[in-house]
Amino acid sequence: MERLRPEPPALYLDAQGNIPQFESVRQARAELRVGGSAQAATDAGLYAEAVGGLVFGDSRDGQDPRRFLTHPAASGTHALTLGARLLAQLPPTRRVYLPTPSWSNHQRIFEEAGLTVGHYPYFDAYARQLDVDALVGFLCRLPGPAVIVLQASCHNPTGSDLTRDQWDVIADVVKALGHIPFIDMAYQGLGDTLQDDNYGVTAMADRGVFTLVAQSCSKIFQLSEARCGSLSAYCPSADQAQPIQRAMQSWTRMDTAPASLGVVARILSQPGLRKLWQSELDGMRDRVGQVRAALHKTLCRLSPAWDWSYLTHQRGFFSYDPALHPAEDAPQAPGLPDRRIVSASGRLGISLITERNLPDVAHAIAGASAP
Ligand code: PMP
Repeated sequence: MERLRPEPPALYLDAQGNIPQFESVRQARAELRVGGSAQAATDAGLYAEAVGGLVFGDSRDGQDPRRFLTHPAASGTHALTLGARLLAQLPPTRRVYLPTPSWSNHQRIFEEAGLTVGHYPYFDAYARQLDVDALVGFLCRLPGPAVIVLQASCHNPTGSDLTRDQWDVIADVVKALGHIPFIDMAYQGLGDTLQDDNYGVTAMADRGVFTLVAQSCSKIFQLSEARCGSLSAYCPSADQAQPIQRAMQSWTRMDTAPASLGVVARILSQPGLRKLWQSELDGMRDRVGQVRAALHKTLCRLSPAWDWSYLTHQRGFFSYDPALHPAEDAPQAPGLPDRRIVSASGRLGISLITERNLPDVAHAIAGASAP
């Protein structure tokens, strides 16, 4: 039987339709193969320090460094799993709330750690934008402290992110009610700059709110085959950090270090490579923005009655328009180059669109908007 159209994967294709490899990554790999500094660069401590700098940004400045912990993880998924494991051991709550909708693996990761998963309202399907009043109202009505999973930027799958003001409101509510934010940061620098995309983390840390961050280097360094990530914790006091540091030390003995750890540590700690990487990351973000603008323009022409404005307001690899109704049983929409680009539920794989396939993709999306 024909299966439903699959969900778009979190892959990025360049203008030629290839998965690009960053020049910064190629150079770092080459430098690590020669030279005696390989050992230093693969040091997990250097990686944790460099990646912790991305995650926490300037919220660490002038603060006691013992309150900012970062542990290497094999991927963003692994970081979420380690965080869930930690939460399962931590008083005072075993309840975790995910946004509706959220990345499809979140639920399984938290349930497998033995936590109870609930859902909070996030996206208004009718307005095709996030509904922060519903979100905040929900947090305020929760009967006690809970873990709240939030995405830092390029929300998967809606592409709709919190603004700085909205992060501030949520951080105030979370602090007042004792909730624990767990921030999933898989696309830092792809929504806006690195500093802008960690605003949620700094908003929590600046208020002294205990916060976990699962970070992924997979997309932002284009390490699809050799992914890596990290789990970070901001602890309001050095005393509160101690049990978490002990847990992280015990993982060091159990887990193998991710293969790309030395590459990322090298790029982040060498100014020349870091500059090159930053420009490659910016280039990726700009191109996704251009694809969004071009798709928006074409769809406004093909289907002018539909409101396509969300395409240019949303960010990152995905957009989400639940009002679209692509034919579920059609084996392949005519001309659609990759059936994963438009899912049955209205998820759009923006980062899979290239200049070449855009006209066909736009026709398939316009067709799904027909009455
Ligand atoms: N969180 C979100 C929201 C994601 O989209 C992804 C990647 N698809 C991850 C976490 C996992 O990252 P990784 O590929 O490094 O496991």
